[in-house]
Amino acid sequence: MIVKNFFMHLSENQLLNKAAQNYGFKLGAHSVVAGTNIEEAIGSIKELNAQGISCTIDNLGEFVHDKAEALEAKNQILGVVDAIHQHRVDAHISLKPSQLGLDIDYDFCLENIKEIVAKASEHNIFINFDMENYARLQPSFDLMDELSKDYNNIGTVIQSYFIRAEDDIKKYSNYRLRIVKGAYKEPEAVAYQSKEEIDANFIELIEYHLLNGKFTSIATHDHNVIAHVKQFVIDHNIPMEKFEFQMLYGFRKEMQVELAQQGYNFCTYIPFGTDWYGYFMRRLAERPQNLNLVVKQVFTK
Ligand code: FAD
Repeated sequence: MIVKNFFMHLSENQLLNKAAQNYGFKLGAHSVVAGTNIEEAIGSIKELNAQGISCTIDNLGEFVHDKAEALEAKNQILGVVDAIHQHRVDAHISLKPSQLGLDIDYDFCLENIKEIVAKASEHNIFINFDMENYARLQPSFDLMDELSKDYNNIGTVIQSYFIRAEDDIKKYSNYRLRIVKGAYKEPEAVAYQSKEEIDANFIELIEYHLLNGKFTSIATHDHNVIAHVKQFVIDHNIPMEKFEFQMLYGFRKEMQVELAQQGYNFCTYIPFGTDWYGYFMRRLAERPQNLNLVVKQVFTK
């Protein structure tokens, strides 16, 4: 827990974020971040597509403080839409509302995301709203609900550690949903804290959405959960086209390929960009063993 808190604390440090940008693509981040620009990311996506794996692209960006930074992020993501279309890769987009100005001005953020969703819709590209911390949860659902009046290429994430997740999954059951355990540090008042409670809720929510018949992305590196889902879909005759497994780029690479080879829909989450610091620290907080990845990168260079 102390180690987790340590990395989580580092992930929120804006000064270190800036330093990391200047320091460049070091600290081993390139093992879990697919490049600093879209060209590099597209190269990684083509390799994964060739192995039957689709991708969701996250143009990394956190700590957006002003409208100019949010507009810059919007333009970059519009560039990602173009790149997916031009390269004809099997990929969609994951974005974070805070990156598009959610903390600055809700309506401004709505307009930014609308522009992205509209352009993506023209090319039949799906947009996933990643879920961030608790304070941004309801506003993110509200953005999605607002945009769903005009577009159907959107969906979001349900974080199983939230006590309200059970109500949310029912309320948002019409959407394509990615279900995860939850990555941020949240207080007891709103989130389960023990691994047992989070894992149990995770399974319940996955089963609920699979039975509900809407497309479900099961995003986890947990082999126990994956094994459970494999059996559950057989027992309940859930068609393969109704769900996929998702994992992060660079994690359990062999298992990713194996699941795709076994015929499951598989999607790899591809983070790229210069703003890799917060993402990288959250991965270390989740699993300090991920430090092994870093050490390996440092010594094998
Ligand atoms: P864990 O609970 O971390 O691990 C369970 C067990 O699996 C471990 O004890 C170990 O035995 C095994 N294991 C895990 N990782 C490895 C590994 N690398 N190598 C070997 N064994 C391993 N969170 C959000 O809050 N919002 C989001 O929008 C969001 N999107 C995500 C998208 C994707 C594609 C993924 C995969 C995760 C996302 N997350 C998101 C993060 C998620 O909430 C978890 O924090 C993260 O996935 C860690 O939980 P886990 O389910 O992978 O398993």
